[in-house]
Amino acid sequence: MTRRLYYDDAYTTVFEARIIERLAVDGQPAVVLDQTCFYPEGGGQPADRGTMAGVEVADVFTCEDDRAVVHVLGAEIPSDGVFCEIDWPRRFDHMQHHTGQHILTQAFVQLIGANTIGFHLGAEVVTIDLDIPQIDPSDLEAVEELANRVIFENRSVVVRVIDPDQADDVRVRKMPDHLSTGGLRVVEVEGFDATACGGTHVSRTGEIGLLKIIRLEKHGDETRVEFLCGSRALRDYRQKHAILSDLSASLTCGYWEIDGAIERLRGDLKEARSKLKSASKQLLTYEVDRLVDETQPNASGVRVIKMAFPDGDASDIRALASRLIGEPDTVVLFGVPGEKAQVIAARSENLSQDMNIALKAALGVLGSDRGGGRPDFCQGGGVPATESRINTALDTAEQSLAGG
Ligand SMILES: [Zn+2]
Repeated sequence: MTRRLYYDDAYTTVFEARIIERLAVDGQPAVVLDQTCFYPEGGGQPADRGTMAGVEVADVFTCEDDRAVVHVLGAEIPSDGVFCEIDWPRRFDHMQHHTGQHILTQAFVQLIGANTIGFHLGAEVVTIDLDIPQIDPSDLEAVEELANRVIFENRSVVVRVIDPDQADDVRVRKMPDHLSTGGLRVVEVEGFDATACGGTHVSRTGEIGLLKIIRLEKHGDETRVEFLCGSRALRDYRQKHAILSDLSASLTCGYWEIDGAIERLRGDLKEARSKLKSASKQLLTYEVDRLVDETQPNASGVRVIKMAFPDGDASDIRALASRLIGEPDTVVLFGVPGEKAQVIAARSENLSQDMNIALKAALGVLGSDRGGGRPDFCQGGGVPATESRINTALDTAEQSLAGG
């Protein structure tokens, strides 16, 4: 069995070891060492990374059968004696979050009696799952406050190996089925928490730096709490500070006034939208008058108003068509070019043609079979069409009416 050096010292980052077994894992070379500082994935904490004889250590895990620590390598290593180096920034980040988790878990127990039933330490997200459906915001703040107080007090974090039968005062989330340590390994945050754990931890709470709860997520009867420690908390603060600074610069106000500034912008936008709406309505009235004036009736005394609207909004144009056919003896053939081109064919109530015939003729030119409506008002399209294509389609629609 591999001697796990990280049990006694989580701070050793370089060590020498001998390869005592060689194997392959999913086609990649892998080795077992006589001793290792590499932490294998377990207890919610991801495996370490680093190098072995200059070769990348891609993954580390514990073999189910013999509890050996298997190191998956980026390439074969010919020699048996190897110099190893742990990716320390990654490991330290894990130590900060793992110790932070112990403290946060105990703070939730002490202040609101919520127990941690899950822990996940990912590259992006770190979470614990609590056995309660919701948390009061003021309780959450108190928990965060207590956790940070324990961090700022720089308490010692010590590891003891005890007889599992004497573990009454120890919080055990999941008793390990195999004790590689020859006893139950207990991680104790001085005067605050004792938890059975096989992970790596900082030796004083001050090294965690800061613990910030950033998100809650309800999962049925449980609550997932996302939090950040150390450098991740700093990075988060930096990003959010940059966003707030940019926003306050562009809104020309202090960051504490952004709320109010956005509220005012929302109000302005609402007012501008309603003004635009009434202006559009007014414009429509003028447009109706202009089109009626400019279009001469044909030999049958019918005014055919035919037009493409390259920048038109389909609902505005529908409204314009409705207004126009309010006048007697009027036929409207409108088109909106674009990715989803539209054609509208409509007529006054006193006329008798079925406008679906005109619409079908226009859609035939566009190559669409989607459309329909009442005999006096129908619409279709939904396929791409240029302005000139739309004009051709409208001409064809007009001819179809003359023919009928
Ligand atoms: Zn732990």
